[in-house]
Amino acid sequence: MEVKDMVCIVCPLGCKLQVKPANDRATEFMVEGNKCPRGAEYGVKELTNPTRVITSTVRIKNAHLNRIPVKTNGAIPKGLMEECMRKLNFVEVKSPVKVGDVIIKDVLGTGIDIVATRSM
Ligand code: SF4
Repeated sequence: MEVKDMVCIVCPLGCKLQVKPANDRATEFMVEGNKCPRGAEYGVKELTNPTRVITSTVRIKNAHLNRIPVKTNGAIPKGLMEECMRKLNFVEVKSPVKVGDVIIKDVLGTGIDIVATRSM
């Protein structure tokens, strides 16, 4: 495995990272270019198991708007993002919904829930 260049997206500074294996079996990694430990953690995770928090909206009935904002309450594997977004397309909730209410429990078996990010 060779050196992988990436931009840290943990904070707005956007440090340019270089991540490379620290041994032949690529079981450990070295990160350079990070200004804080969170960047090192992000760099290794991005290379070995990239994940993302999803923010989106779902349809809502009987409310003053047609859609309510939602997000995952944790990061899910990047490879499941598309399927998760497709699932959200078919969801419709009924007002009243409170901020933090679970809209989908354990989405795609990830152990992560989709929750409302505002009351409506
Ligand atoms: S390495 Fe640290 S300071 Fe740099 S972008 Fe990532 S979180 Fe921000």
